[in-house]
Amino acid sequence: MKKALFWFRRDLRFEDNHALYKALIENDEVYPFFIFDPSILEELPSDDHRLTFIFDTLEQLNGQLAPELPISYFFGDPKTVIEQLLGASSGASLYLNADYEPYARTRDKHIYDLCQQTNHPFFRLKDHVIFEQNEVVKDDGQPYVVFTPYKKRWLSEFDRPKHLPNYPSEQYLFKLKRFSKVTAEAVNKLEDFGKHRASLSAPKFNLDSERIENYEATRNFMEVDGTTKLGTYLRFGTQSTRQVVAKALEAKNSTYLSELIWREFFQQILWHFPKTVSQSFKPQYDRIKWRNNSTEFERWCEGTTGYALVDAGMRELNQTGYMHNRVRMLTASFLCKHLLIDWRWGEAYFAKKLFDYELASNVGNWQWAAGSGVDAAPYFRIFNPTTQIQKFDKNLTYIKQWVPDFQEFSYASPIVDHKEARERCLSTYNQALKP
Ligand SMILES: Cc1cc2nc3c(=O)[nH]c(=O)nc-3n(C[C@H](O)[C@H](O)[C@H](O)COP(=O)(O)OP(=O)(O)OC[C@H]3O[C@@H](n4cnc5c(N)ncnc54)[C@H](O)[C@@H]3O)c2cc1C
Repeated sequence: MKKALFWFRRDLRFEDNHALYKALIENDEVYPFFIFDPSILEELPSDDHRLTFIFDTLEQLNGQLAPELPISYFFGDPKTVIEQLLGASSGASLYLNADYEPYARTRDKHIYDLCQQTNHPFFRLKDHVIFEQNEVVKDDGQPYVVFTPYKKRWLSEFDRPKHLPNYPSEQYLFKLKRFSKVTAEAVNKLEDFGKHRASLSAPKFNLDSERIENYEATRNFMEVDGTTKLGTYLRFGTQSTRQVVAKALEAKNSTYLSELIWREFFQQILWHFPKTVSQSFKPQYDRIKWRNNSTEFERWCEGTTGYALVDAGMRELNQTGYMHNRVRMLTASFLCKHLLIDWRWGEAYFAKKLFDYELASNVGNWQWAAGSGVDAAPYFRIFNPTTQIQKFDKNLTYIKQWVPDFQEFSYASPIVDHKEARERCLSTYNQALKP
């Protein structure tokens, strides 16, 4: 009787799940589990909306297989929990899908070592992306740090049968079993480890062909519900990246696929340059003398800068856990350039709020906005928060939705004068970047 343990992480689905499929076809019994890791949880508020999303998704998965409820939940340091699970499952293999974030890489290395020492076969599979690690690099083996050549290479390496195989894990779920007796700390609800439900729910995604066909024309306009809202579902793996890419390939225009490639671009940047989580990709940008005024930061966070589009974006984020991409670009640029507040402050705030928060994309895009990152917006390109309204929300529909008070006397006056802030930004950046 061959047994395996399957560790759910950012792949919370039964369908087309690479490592789950391998575990199921290569073994007679598979024991699935999820670990609530205190070192991640301690960073989160007690009613974190992403945690509720994870918990509800696990419950839905278990619900599909009721009454056996095979997925066990544990609370504790993953290495300790897995040591206990392996200890109770002599000879079992461990299967998991790869996670490329620095914390996960270190954690998984410890788990790999543990498996080696205790003679438990360890299988780590690619699932979260189409190309991982060094699979799309330049001829000399160096990573791409500019998007367009990366994308060109991504497309030339892409071979549909090879890169979009189907892993029909859902056909073998009858092999899933629940642990009967383990010493690890099992939990059943959020309250068991000091958390409780959030009231926010993730935005519903829309992957209809029509949405993808129209994507190029509509994606920049906030008043149109034109994007797919798939970020959260790709982040937690409730949707298969392979199936989403397959859908994107059916479309007549390639813009949607291009966005998915941006996601992979930032994933590989984080893999090759993990230090960019806390350091500017271009080191000279760490010489910028940020003003870091905490009162101004507070106004940016709550959406009372007096710039209606910036405020609309921040209020949308605070109230829903989502913000339209166009407005993410503007709010991020406004924080770094108009207010001269360190991109790391903004990155941390988005990390707390976004449903679709993903380290690679958040850091990559924040550094893009600050000018310090790979293929970043040039530092002298400073979005004008007023003309952006004319371009992308000319009927003021989005602004009126999120800042209903924007034409009232009580609405905040502008936190900075655009022209003065622009000049201050240019001179501060110039000072830092001069050779
Ligand atoms: C400052 C800033 C911070 C951001 N932080 C995140 C983050 O934490 N997590 C995140 O997934 N995206 C982030 N983005 C990228 C982008 O804004 C979101 O992916 C997108 O708005 C999510 O909405 P959607 O799912 O409707 O996307 P769609 O427009 O429907 O795009 C489909 C998918 O493509 C990917 N994608 C699209 N644009 C980008 C991009 N610029 N970079 C990377 N992937 C992209 C996402 O997976 C997205 O879900 C950030 C952008 C900015 C400017």
